[in-house]
Amino acid sequence: MRHLFQVWNWTAGTLCVCGFPAVLWYNNSTGVRIYGILYREIWMLQKIYAGVAFAVGKVFGSHNERVIKGLLPVVQQVLEYEEDLLKLSDAALREKSLGFRRGLSEGGSLDDVLPEVFACARESARRYLGMRHFDVQIIGGMILHSGKIAEMVTGEGKTLVATAPACLNALVRKENEPSHVHIVTVNDYLARRDAAWMGPVYRGLGLTVGCIQSNMSNAERKEQYSCDITYGTNNEFGFDYLRDNMKISVQDQVQKLRHFAIVDEVDSVLIDEARTPLIISGAAEEATDKYYKATYAVESMQGGNQAEIDHQVLEAAQKGYDKEEAREEFEQEYDYVYSEKDQSAHLTERGIERAMKILGVDDFYSGRNLDWPHYLENAVRSKALYKKDVQYVVKDGQVIIVDEFTGRLMEGRRWSDGLHQSVEAKEGLKIRQENQTLATITFQNFFKLYGKISGMTGTAMTEGREFMQIYKLDVIAIPPNRPLRRTNFPDLIYGSEKEQFEAICGEIEYTNKSGRPILVGTTSIEKSEIISKLLKRRGIKHEVLNAKHHEREAAIISLAGQNSAVTIATNMAGRGTDIILGDGVAALGGLHVVGSERHEARRIDNQLRGRSGRQGDPGSSRFYLALEDDLMRIFASDWVRSMLRRSGLSDGQPLESRLVTGAIEKAQRRVEEHNFAIRKRLLEYDEVNNEQRTIIYNRRQEILEGGDTRSRIFEMLDAAVDNAVGKFASNAVRYDERDLDGLSNWLKRKFSLNVDPVEWKNLSQQEIYQNVFKRVELAYTEREKAMGEPVARSLERFVLLEVIDRKWKDHLHAMDHLKESIWLRSYAQKDPRIEYKREGYSLFSELMEAVYNEVTDLIFKVHVVREEDRKALEERWDIASEGRGEMEQLAQKQKEDINSAEMAGGEGKVTEPIKRSSPRIGRNDPCPCGSGKKYKNCCMKKERKTADAAKSD
Ligand code: ADP
Ligand code: MG
Repeated sequence: MRHLFQVWNWTAGTLCVCGFPAVLWYNNSTGVRIYGILYREIWMLQKIYAGVAFAVGKVFGSHNERVIKGLLPVVQQVLEYEEDLLKLSDAALREKSLGFRRGLSEGGSLDDVLPEVFACARESARRYLGMRHFDVQIIGGMILHSGKIAEMVTGEGKTLVATAPACLNALVRKENEPSHVHIVTVNDYLARRDAAWMGPVYRGLGLTVGCIQSNMSNAERKEQYSCDITYGTNNEFGFDYLRDNMKISVQDQVQKLRHFAIVDEVDSVLIDEARTPLIISGAAEEATDKYYKATYAVESMQGGNQAEIDHQVLEAAQKGYDKEEAREEFEQEYDYVYSEKDQSAHLTERGIERAMKILGVDDFYSGRNLDWPHYLENAVRSKALYKKDVQYVVKDGQVIIVDEFTGRLMEGRRWSDGLHQSVEAKEGLKIRQENQTLATITFQNFFKLYGKISGMTGTAMTEGREFMQIYKLDVIAIPPNRPLRRTNFPDLIYGSEKEQFEAICGEIEYTNKSGRPILVGTTSIEKSEIISKLLKRRGIKHEVLNAKHHEREAAIISLAGQNSAVTIATNMAGRGTDIILGDGVAALGGLHVVGSERHEARRIDNQLRGRSGRQGDPGSSRFYLALEDDLMRIFASDWVRSMLRRSGLSDGQPLESRLVTGAIEKAQRRVEEHNFAIRKRLLEYDEVNNEQRTIIYNRRQEILEGGDTRSRIFEMLDAAVDNAVGKFASNAVRYDERDLDGLSNWLKRKFSLNVDPVEWKNLSQQEIYQNVFKRVELAYTEREKAMGEPVARSLERFVLLEVIDRKWKDHLHAMDHLKESIWLRSYAQKDPRIEYKREGYSLFSELMEAVYNEVTDLIFKVHVVREEDRKALEERWDIASEGRGEMEQLAQKQKEDINSAEMAGGEGKVTEPIKRSSPRIGRNDPCPCGSGKKYKNCCMKKERKTADAAKSD
């Protein structure tokens, strides 16, 4: 405050009251203050200030306080619109949002219209739902709009809070564009309920609202997504994203835009559920039989060694023959030509014809048959270049790669791009038919796809650090509308579980007699059942909920506040349902919450407590613990436990101890940290997948949306030419030692271009590149002309999609195997995370190279695509199952990994070796190191030695 002057014992000063200039007279002796605010609504301000700011200042930290204080003037502005809106007709209110939309499309900013739009939402809710947003709800709405997390305790009306920011952000939508506001709930029932409940608020403003349910068809989903605001679960939003990226036309895609997400119960979605990613899986092989057929087709074929042919051609040329003709002639003696130097093989004209005859295919380069060349190439490669017991061994019906440098068996690894299957077919083995990942994403990465996300929950502060680090979400606690009146009694600790349960039931019985309702929260269905059984014995009527039938359980839990009600529920059960007190229950003391044990995370305990004392209701809570509880067992140090025992815990007498409560909180913090570490690791692994997925999905989408496929093709041709010229005619090699014949061959095979290599004799690498690329460009343009632009474009689209999808699917398969086998690396004292990244990257660059290669190959040969060919594309993504929670080995191993390291009290350095999952090696089996000796004479000896040494340590 700035002093102006003093008259007797009155001081005059200027100051700022939440952003408004004000004059203050202060009586130095009596302390009386007189405000002279320069606004007429001083009484309003004082009311808001007294109600909100005071509580904020008292209860929360300074950052929180500052954020909320900064919003108060806006709350005031929202209020100022109220009077005028009251007078509007329903139609006029609806009209208003159209006006905003127009204004926004002409370049207005959302923040400018925020106060008025919020006022409209408030008016609509008042009119159609009979609920007028409380000031704290308006503040909550602003926090959501600003992309933060609003922590508001249970019963504060978060469902309504979301409406104002949803309306506001739905307004930037352009006409006829799908919705971009998604409101995320934890189950289908809540999505349905909230969309229906809040529907009138939106419709009152002329906005549409939809809701996604897991059993909906594609067409239904599309319709729901086209609404301004769409409710749905995190699973459905995530799966729709993945499924959209497996569709082959834009028309079939449902979700498309992701601009703004408001996540309800944000801690459960972004923290609890973030440990298991979404996975869509399906059959690994679309056409196993094609591998066998291709193998059969090449079985009787004659192969020629490229190096020998080159030699023969050279000799012929020296004798004066035409090089090209000579090569053609020599090559036609074979069905395929292979080169050991670059591990490649390809069919000759003669070979292609034979293959067509054997396979009964009349054209390899029309839509549906486009993948045949790929199968055949793999078949000749595995026939010509992959030798049993050299590059691989066959063991237990499986093809196992032998590391070419060390000779070690690389169990669990697979060659990519279909080669492994091809070798399996050649060996007459069963091609491993398995389910593979077709698409997967973690919630962390899914929600990053939104332009803006925000969340609300009763309990977020304890996880504030994680929200900030992983999601860049700030958590702001919003004071309750009415002061909290719940009493949280200190924990009671018992010596044994039996005593604990007895005490819980005793308390239930005692409280129940008075008519007070009780909610018992447990951490497992099993515990719920034990308590239920005990209560039955005592003849106490009760309900048991275990998060199986959301809708029915919601109905039951909504009655948990009625006179004499006893409800036992696991943490998940009845979430999102308001417990309203029955008549006269408040006078009895409100709802009493009993916790059967402390949960791993403080947050979950707080959620349970928060079930009582909503909106200023009276209420109470108490947790019962036993020394045997998991949390106590793992974390309470021995001396705490023995001390507790000594202090007379044994005879059914509980202990109320600050020490223990403190110890438990410390334990919970440790578990929270530990779980955070697991989620962070999962994210680290997913980083690799995420980058790859983003690249592929973006490319696909570009193709589907009719992007410039011609440029894409040229980009690939350019890269292919550049690569080939670099390989055959590098400046790093002396001019006369360059393999210009090789280049000429390559051009012929790939683009059917005939060039006499003499032309390039005196050209530099760069000049040759230009020369070749020009020819390729010309050839392509001519092809284009001949078939017409529209046909050319549709062929491009088809080839790109077909190749990208096929290879991407194979790649995902390879990544699955990598994930499984990467754990074996910790044998070799390698950090599996780094190994996974490294190999993941190299598999991906192989994928991209393979895509470039095959696209550039096919694009010069393909000529027809029929409607039914598109069907084949669709069939590729045949979804067998969708689910969460099977991050299978990876998550499991990480968990064990961290468990063993951190729980043992270490600092995360020690990693227990992973147990061998492959069958044991027999003494007389060949040693897996590939030495060729028997196991007993080779590595077994060494292993014995190390084991013995370890024992004697
Ligand atoms: P939360 O999700 O925060 O736990 P809910 O959205 O389930 O809370 O709402 C709790 C209860 O509060 C509901 O019964 C709702 O009708 C009521 N409620 C919310 N906001 C208001 C309001 N502004 N005026 C009156 N009742 C309200
Ligand atoms: Mg809720």
